[in-house]
Amino acid sequence: MDVHAIRHRLKLKRDAGHTRLFENRDSVACPACDEPFADLLATEKREYSFRPTGSMRLCVVREDDRLLAFTHE
Ligand SMILES: [Zn+2]
Repeated sequence: MDVHAIRHRLKLKRDAGHTRLFENRDSVACPACDEPFADLLATEKREYSFRPTGSMRLCVVREDDRLLAFTHE
């Protein structure tokens, strides 16, 4: 997924360098289920723990050097 290409449709909520959390401001579709996601967590860490709030579905996409996690309301 080209996060950079859709960056203007997302709001950066948290940035720890290796891990960033974005809010979906423009109904961008999740690449795993094709439905708009609420938040996107992108991490380059091998292990990372976070607690999604108010989410009913969690989708993950594994890339070579990055893990993407999409939450849905
Ligand atoms: Zn999804």
